[in-house]
Amino acid sequence: MADRKYWEEELETLPRPKLEQLQLQRLQEHLEYAYQRSPYYREAFDKAGVKPAALRHLEDLSAFPFTDKKIQRDRQLLLPDLGDMVAVPEEQIVFVSASSGSTGVPTLSPFTKRDFDDFQNVESRLFWSAGMRPKDRYVHALNFSLFVGGPDVIGAQNLGALCIWAGTVPSDRLLYIMKEFKPTITWTTPSYAWHLGESALKQGIDPRRDLHIRKIIVAGEPGGSIPATRSAIEELWGAELFDFYGLSDIFGACAGMCPEKNGLHLAEDHILLEVLDPDTQEPVPDGQPGEMVLTTLQKQARPMIRFRTGDIVTRLPEPCPCGRTHSRFEVQGRIDDMIIVSGVNVFPSDIEYVVRGMEGLTGEYRITVYEEKRLLRFDVEVEAAEGHEAHAEILSETVIERIKLRSGVRPKHVRVLESGTLPRATHKARRVVDLRTGTN
Ligand SMILES: [Zn+2]
Repeated sequence: MADRKYWEEELETLPRPKLEQLQLQRLQEHLEYAYQRSPYYREAFDKAGVKPAALRHLEDLSAFPFTDKKIQRDRQLLLPDLGDMVAVPEEQIVFVSASSGSTGVPTLSPFTKRDFDDFQNVESRLFWSAGMRPKDRYVHALNFSLFVGGPDVIGAQNLGALCIWAGTVPSDRLLYIMKEFKPTITWTTPSYAWHLGESALKQGIDPRRDLHIRKIIVAGEPGGSIPATRSAIEELWGAELFDFYGLSDIFGACAGMCPEKNGLHLAEDHILLEVLDPDTQEPVPDGQPGEMVLTTLQKQARPMIRFRTGDIVTRLPEPCPCGRTHSRFEVQGRIDDMIIVSGVNVFPSDIEYVVRGMEGLTGEYRITVYEEKRLLRFDVEVEAAEGHEAHAEILSETVIERIKLRSGVRPKHVRVLESGTLPRATHKARRVVDLRTGTN
């Protein structure tokens, strides 16, 4: 069994016309399901003047309204607990994950038993595609607390790997586990993979020689698909890097690299991909970047129809030599200025929320993003309001603490400047200076 190339050969290698036929049939049923069972979708489709029965081709989906994080959050607040996008009674929901958003209201992602099993089967498929086999030992180093990536360990276990449920333990502990349990595969963020390898070297542990990790799965940051970052981490560990992509609104990971390591295959039997011009919402040709818009095809608990992910991706036009027919894409980055520090998403609006809500500051701020020893850092500059200059130190500490409280990570430095020091934007303000790319 370990010799076989695919987890589910027939599905993964289905000729495109058949795959698209399957998607069409599932989409028709799914739209009807959402319309019948979710008050939100009924209202949204009626408002847009579209009926599920009108969908005859996959392209007809363009007549249906978009959803996004904001809608998700707003509709979640409408009803107690899970909101009105949900399509099943609560007793059928067996799992929710939560993700923090830019306004601080965590968005919840519900799963029925079938959704959860489907989710873990996709994880098994992606793990298999990355080369995990039953003889592997896998150390799961993702957060188990509320994070959608936590349960992904079950996918590895269902595949037959020996699974070590480490979670986000301190580096020393993880290195100890890696030495003693001799796992061959792990999953973390690219930054952390780098940090952990460096920490090992400092302790006299050479990851290439003294540890057994031969594959590292990464997600949550673009680094896994950036050649320079990839090869630096692969070199440090003597391991192969596989990039995965996921979002809590649908699945933990829903796309991952195959051994070709050229783009990520999306689980297209579960998710329909549109790549659209973010301004015109028109489809862009394959090979051109656009916003990734995803539609679930089977999610029972909460269908996501035309969900605008805010990620810019390019769908690769060529079929993959691995034989999998499901679309491959490359992620270019976020549309907005999201900063990802140690796998945690920080939005400029998080900083703004803190800075504008604090007495003693003018409300002006500037964020500087940079890399330090391959880890992403950010500094924040703020201005003391007149009369508050003497309290710079307390102001700075308070800003750090509040940003940490709001976003989960702290800025490296906060500098309190005199009022009027920072440039005032007359147009749309861009308050993020990125020293890695030189943009602002
Ligand atoms: Zn492939």
